[in-house]
Amino acid sequence: MIETSDMQFEERVVTPQAVDEDRDVEVTLRPQTLVEYIGQDKVKENLAIYIEAAKRRGDPLDHVLLYGPPGLGKTTLSSIIAHEMGVNLRVTTGPAIEKAGDLAAILTNLQPNDVLFIDEIHRLNRQVEEILYPALEDHAIDIIMGKGPSARSLRVDLNPFTLVGATTRAGQLSSPLRDRFGVIHRLELYTPEQLSDIVRRSAMLLKIPCSIDGAMEIAGRARGTPRIANRLLKRVRDFADVMGDGEITQEIAKMALTRLEIDELGLDSNDRRMLETIIKGYGGGPVGLETLASAMGEETVTLEDVCEPFLMQLGFLARTPRGRCATVPAYQHLGYRPPQEDSGMDGQMSLN
Ligand code: ADP
Repeated sequence: MIETSDMQFEERVVTPQAVDEDRDVEVTLRPQTLVEYIGQDKVKENLAIYIEAAKRRGDPLDHVLLYGPPGLGKTTLSSIIAHEMGVNLRVTTGPAIEKAGDLAAILTNLQPNDVLFIDEIHRLNRQVEEILYPALEDHAIDIIMGKGPSARSLRVDLNPFTLVGATTRAGQLSSPLRDRFGVIHRLELYTPEQLSDIVRRSAMLLKIPCSIDGAMEIAGRARGTPRIANRLLKRVRDFADVMGDGEITQEIAKMALTRLEIDELGLDSNDRRMLETIIKGYGGGPVGLETLASAMGEETVTLEDVCEPFLMQLGFLARTPRGRCATVPAYQHLGYRPPQEDSGMDGQMSLN
């Protein structure tokens, strides 16, 4: 067992962002073709058509913006696009490109029709973003040579390329940048059935014996997120190796996940703490996100990115103009008596 405080431990288990322990297997587990990519059917169907059309014409694929919570397969899709187009993939992130010159160096090194993937594209700085506009539209960049009155602008042509941008916050993207993407897709949280297929595929690749029920048990608690499903699979494998005969059965999965304090709906102690703070500290809400975060000693982004999407999908949390509210199902799940139960009002009133 890992000896650490509950907080750190749990953040590592259900955080949807990649952590060090994910990196060793993510490369092995990453699907390489659209056919292997499970779920997100609408995105896949559209991309398949656009890729085929671009290939027939010999053009690069139109620029693609993918948005949605972390761990849902944005990076994976960008590598699939490059693979299906038969071109190279160059991966970077918004904050890593500090200066206009950094981006110019990347862009001038791209081969015809290559895919450039920029994760967290909403964090590109303004100067860098401005270099990107002519690159996206005219396949050219303007480099300023010299300073002051003698400064000259030199236009450098680029090879045609496809930008795949990924962001967890489409709303933070400037509209000139957003308007330059021809294809914009939102990735949705996965259903337990789709996650179960992902767990079984990963178990096969990692040579972990895993029953259908065992996979479903893990999938049901993976918060709609493939990255978490894969991480839970590895954790449960440790329990299966030490406490069983190595096979992940439903019983082993249940026992392991209970030990990891992830309940049968996938809530961990951070989620429960968030709901309990709203229920016990603020009479069920509404309570502003900032207030809630400081009451819990958490960052607002953790609540927004890790807890909220999932709690809202379960219908346990509602966002209203005046703040966050716990719904009746949330009260019931945590074993509290909902305040308005007797007056016949239900949690759906605030689910908008
Ligand atoms: P994001 O870029 O959205 O944070 P990633 O593309 O890095 O997410 O996905 C995280 C991991 O989840 C990948 O290593 C991959 O193994 C797995 N994964 C994501 N989407 C799928 C999918 N649709 N089918 C199978 N595995 C997936």
